[in-house]
Amino acid sequence: MSITSYANQYVLDLVAYQPGKPIEETARELGMEPERIVKLASNENSLGPSPKAVDAMVRAASGAHIYPDGASFELRSRLAADHGVSFEQTVVGSGSSEIIELLCHAFLHPGIELMAARHSFSMYPIMCKLFGAKYVEVENKADWSHDLMGMLKAVTPATRLIFITNPTNPLGTMVQQEEIDAFMAQVPDHVVVAFDEAYIDFADTKPDTMKFVREGKNVVVMRTFSKAYGLAGVRAGYAVASAAVADLLNKARTPFNINLIAQAGALAALDDQEHIARSVEMVKRGRQQYYDAFKAWGLDYIPSQGNFILVKVGRGREVFDKALAQGVILRQMDGYGLPEYIRITVGTQKENARCLEVLAGILGK
Ligand SMILES: *Cc1c(COP(=O)(O)O)cnc(C)c1O
Repeated sequence: MSITSYANQYVLDLVAYQPGKPIEETARELGMEPERIVKLASNENSLGPSPKAVDAMVRAASGAHIYPDGASFELRSRLAADHGVSFEQTVVGSGSSEIIELLCHAFLHPGIELMAARHSFSMYPIMCKLFGAKYVEVENKADWSHDLMGMLKAVTPATRLIFITNPTNPLGTMVQQEEIDAFMAQVPDHVVVAFDEAYIDFADTKPDTMKFVREGKNVVVMRTFSKAYGLAGVRAGYAVASAAVADLLNKARTPFNINLIAQAGALAALDDQEHIARSVEMVKRGRQQYYDAFKAWGLDYIPSQGNFILVKVGRGREVFDKALAQGVILRQMDGYGLPEYIRITVGTQKENARCLEVLAGILGK
């Protein structure tokens, strides 16, 4: 008997997460210099990390022979102060992907349901299935935003977690304060609501969800240092949650889940709000740069509140392959049930111009 026949069926059935294609791998395959590759595939920050964060990480590296502070005291104290919650209500993770996993550890098992909107971040169904739970998808409204009332109607006694991604990836749409308030007023007590705010820095409006945490609701607000903060490579994310939920997540994590360098980098990045402002400014200008081109070309796109745009190109897979052959890495959306679209991360003006030039050639514009 093969060892795989002893494995958990829901692990065997899993299709692993497919990340954006790495620059080095693409450079090797194309025989191109890595510097000439433009990666607009993973919603990273093209301005790079804050120089202050880099300094802090370099300094921290000389202490790398000592285990990190398992409680992440400095980082969590700072996050607690910034968000007006207690230290105990904060949880840090190796990316907010780990926070998603911790939520699943705490609440999911066979017979239990996790709910999210259609075309959500693919980590949700992957994690859900890893814990043998049922993934329930709710169709979006006509404008591609979450249908929060539809989600409420789909709640069953087995629903334990609802993910609200705001702004949502890969669609780029948002739900606003009024809709969120109405939803929160009706959501039953046996459900934990997780707001995934990975892209909130890029949004024109920022609904207040931390207030539900301060009110003691069963709420988790997740943020990450991977997107606007430009630290995707060091893996740092966090959650602010009701005391009861935060306690469960802190119990479920491994003792040193966020490393020394990530703790130092994240803390310093919080102090460089100028870098964030520059990054957000770049994204807002860049979104317009793409919209202008797509309008001129007569292409459908979904206006985005994130640092990425979904655009309808017909055969997404083909456009992805052709752009890749020219050294521009985009994200094809087959796995998200959007095969006619590609997702483009908004980069520097120069990167966006290169991407548009390549797309114009492919699409005959
Ligand atoms: C990128 C992203 C995250 C964060 O990923 P990290 O693990 O923090 O790098 C979380 N949620 C969504 C929707 C994302 O797109």
